[in-house]
Amino acid sequence: METQAYASFKLRADVIDGGLCPLCGGCAAGCPYLGEHNGRIVQLDCCTLPEGSCYSNCPRTPTDLDELSRSVLGEPFSPDDLGIVKGGYLAQATDPETRAAAGGGGVAAALLRFSLEQGAIDAIPGTGLDGEGHEGLRLRNLAASSRSSGAPTPVLMSDAAAVVAHLSAPHRFARVLAAFNSIPKESSAKLGMACLPCQVASLRKRTGNPVGSRVDARNVKLLIAEFCATKRWLEPGEDRQVANKACSFCWDLTGELADISVGSARGQQDWNTVFVRTEAGRRAFEAARKGGALEVKPLPADNLAQEKKASRDKKLRAVRNLTTLTGKQDDLAYLGASPRVVKALQGGV
Ligand code: SF4
Ligand code: SF4
Repeated sequence: METQAYASFKLRADVIDGGLCPLCGGCAAGCPYLGEHNGRIVQLDCCTLPEGSCYSNCPRTPTDLDELSRSVLGEPFSPDDLGIVKGGYLAQATDPETRAAAGGGGVAAALLRFSLEQGAIDAIPGTGLDGEGHEGLRLRNLAASSRSSGAPTPVLMSDAAAVVAHLSAPHRFARVLAAFNSIPKESSAKLGMACLPCQVASLRKRTGNPVGSRVDARNVKLLIAEFCATKRWLEPGEDRQVANKACSFCWDLTGELADISVGSARGQQDWNTVFVRTEAGRRAFEAARKGGALEVKPLPADNLAQEKKASRDKKLRAVRNLTTLTGKQDDLAYLGASPRVVKALQGGV
């Protein structure tokens, strides 16, 4: 068999060498052949699986947004600028320490902490720093990880006190999927996660395509997306001025496949904009509000309009960059060539 037919070689050719990988981390850490090294996915050895989850669940390999949206939200991909939204709010953590640590409204930390305390979830895969307790997480390919003191490392939080510190750290998304991949596959622990939109897509792709060697993505009972305009975490040695160019092909500002999306509220210090998208998201949000962990206000029309515009601009930029990449107006590379999806990403126009 030609090496190009192997999943990991295809991943390298189509995504990594093709400049499409934003380093979501989904293919690393659960696999002995792929690892993260200095801000890049590297192939450590030759894996000869023709079908691999690294390829099928990468958010930058062919992705049917209609199918994914149906499986998560029960409807095809929406042409609305913000996707499918069941409720939009301003919210903030009622605990001032959570807000101070988060440098904003602290909603993601408050939601996950409250869910943990109430037993709605058992643990949170996240990012810590090398040298602190890993609570049993063990990477299978440590050789490829950045193993310097203070480097981001996967952690599994089951202690409410750790949640705020970890979810407010600058590198908080860097090893979220590595942490998920490192959970023993037999685990039935209910998980809560805060991720970037590309990481949400990786997890949602797994739900429809379960991976026998990994913990089941359906164990994730609360999936929170943080708005993302560009890559925010930094790898050791990475130039602070350089954003990952792969992010220019990203269509998703607000995490449209998450249960809840959270971002900084425009012009409202210490508040977050929140979009509730699923029943699981609504339950968690309402429980935290009723339980006194969140204060909630209506989302002003101006804020909604600004979020819509920002989201639409990101989609249009991605369509522009992807059609330039493929050289065809109706071919969006990893997002395919469905006329409905192309039109929906352009706001249905
Ligand atoms: S986008 Fe994620 S899953 Fe795809 S190659 Fe990059 S790190 Fe791996
Ligand atoms: S812009 Fe953010 S969500 Fe999109 S690919 Fe980059 S890091 Fe991921």
